[in-house]
Order: sequence, then C-alpha cells, then structure tokens
Amino acid sequence: MTTTKKHLSTEYWYKMPDPDERVVCTLCPRECKLAPGRRGFCYIRMAINGEIALTAANLTSGIAVDPIEKKPLYQFLPNTKVLSFGAIGCNLGCKFCQNWHISKTRDEFDLSVPASPSQLVAQAISAQCSGIAYTYNEPIISMEFVLQVAKEAKTAGLKSIAVSAGFIQEKPRERFFSAMDAANIDLKSFDHSFYQKLTGGGNLSVIIDTLRYVKHHSNCWLEITNLIIPGYNDDFSTITKMCDWIVCELGQDVPLHFSAFHPDYQLTEIPPTPAHTILAARDIAIKSGIRYVYTGNIRHPQGTNTYCHHCQQPLIERQGWSVNIFANNGICPKCHTQCAGIFTQKSELIK
Ligand code: SF4
Repeated sequence: MTTTKKHLSTEYWYKMPDPDERVVCTLCPRECKLAPGRRGFCYIRMAINGEIALTAANLTSGIAVDPIEKKPLYQFLPNTKVLSFGAIGCNLGCKFCQNWHISKTRDEFDLSVPASPSQLVAQAISAQCSGIAYTYNEPIISMEFVLQVAKEAKTAGLKSIAVSAGFIQEKPRERFFSAMDAANIDLKSFDHSFYQKLTGGGNLSVIIDTLRYVKHHSNCWLEITNLIIPGYNDDFSTITKMCDWIVCELGQDVPLHFSAFHPDYQLTEIPPTPAHTILAARDIAIKSGIRYVYTGNIRHPQGTNTYCHHCQQPLIERQGWSVNIFANNGICPKCHTQCAGIFTQKSELIK
C-alpha cells in the first residue's frame, strides 16, 4: 500500500475511460481529473502509477503545543493542551485565508518537518497533551495520514481534533469524522454565492451536510466558527438566517464562535471587522436561541467566557489563554444544570 515514506495510496478515486489515463479524485467535491504526474487543486494529492496518492505523509509544515482554546474549542476538555500540526495545501481557495503561507505554498521546503504517527503521539504524551489537533491547513486533504495518526493517538488514550472547512464528499466524510473526537468547522457564510466567489468554488450545501453529519451521525463534538468580513458576510439578515438554521437543524447546544477578520492574502484592502459588528452578531445568535456564543479576535471578556444557559452563572472564565473553570464536569455550581460538551478525558459526550 505505501509506495514511499511520503507517499500514501488513497481510496477515493476512479480511472477515466480515456486515452490520457486520467484519474478522478473523489475525496472532495472538486473531483479533480488528473493526468499522470499532475497534482490536484489541493496540491498534495497527485496522480501517480494510475491512482491518486497523498504526497505529504510523515511530513508537516510545523508542530506546536497549543491551548485547546486556540483551535477554538471551548467546551471540549477546556484548559488542556493539544499537539497541533499541519501540512500544506487546501481544497478551497479563500481570498481571505489567514494561513495562506502554508495553504497556498508550492514550495516543498514549507513541508520540511518530518513526523511519523508514533513520533507525533510520543511528542503529545511527553508534552502532557490531551490530544492531537489536525490544523493550520485543511486536514481533510491529508486524510490517510491523519487517520494513521488518529489510530495511534486513540491507542495511546489521546483525542483527535480536526479544524476543518468541511468540504468533503459523503463517503470519506463518514470515514474522516468517525476517527475524530472533536471538530471546529468553519461556516464561512450562509450565502452560497459567498462560497462561490470568495472560497474558490466552495459549496454551502456541502458544508451544511458536513455539519449535519458531524452533529447527528458521529460521536465527534462539534463547534462552529464564522469569520465575519466587512462588506462580504456581515449582513445581519444572513447571520440571522444562519443562526436560525443552526438552532433548528443542529440544536441550541452547538457552540458558535464569531471571529473578527484581519486584512490578509487577497483581501488586504478590507478593514478589520469592527468589534460592534461581532457583538451585534453575538446578540443575534443569542436571540436565535444558541446557548453558547463566543467572540474571537476582539477584546470582549463576556464573549470568551462560558455561562450556564439556565442561570447565566459563569462556568468557565478565559483571559487570553488563562482559563478558570468553576463547573465540575460542566455542572453549574449554582443551579446544577449540565453544560453541553466534554469536560474530562473519560466523560461521555453530552451534545
Ligand atoms: S482532495 Fe484535492 S485532488 Fe482531490 S478532488 Fe479535492 S482538490 Fe482535487
């Protein structure tokens, strides 16, 4: 199955009946049709020997120990550390990408930190991490390697966490998220034309399917991030529609993080998102009935704390990366209401 150390065979593809011997990758909805030796849109999947291979196994663009809150995950093992790593490439092409140095690079030098699954697991254990986060770039495109790491992590008692845009086809979606214990998935806008114009051909309905799948058909804890960009997706009626959909389809207990945009990549002319826009979005989400609404990239203490949805008692306070937990196993010390989430390494998923 393995052809070289950095190349892994993959499963989601088929051969085209054409004289050019093209192979179609079916991991994500792009369905790249690749002639021998050609790379897909995501860059790290390639047609080799009549099949699609992952070309970035056992290699990373960087490894770091992060607070889990940085992913962001606020109701999954709060105040623990996770070993984070990523590769290069992406299957979306967002004009506002905040990690474009690695998602858009075509320089193999950016993928120069070697790490096998057992090395990553050993590093996570020695840094006293609760789990391993597949992050920095889109982990779905490295699926085969991520699954190898997740398998070893599970054996070692470590959790697996995906930070993803959720742009994946149905069958690999099940496989990928069944190996994850938690995910933060970007819901970049609730407007299909935004996905078409600003994400390089993404598709809102695919992301919606991923969110539904993770919430209702997996054992993976789900949080959602919505990055608000002035003039592009800050329309309050669309934000209202998005929040109403979350409550109706995913329920009130899925945490929603509104994050402020900073000028980056191809949107350097756009100003940063004003704090009042993020706060207005937070109010909309709370009014819609979402119980746990957070703010990111602005200074707003209430927006980083977790409150009991029943009596509003603070359960977890966060200042920067400093975290104070007042709720034993997520139970409100005042009214004893259970907060949704996972609060200890051995507790059952409450979602
Ligand atoms: S995963 Fe990569 S190669 Fe496969 S269809 Fe998507 S962009 Fe193309």
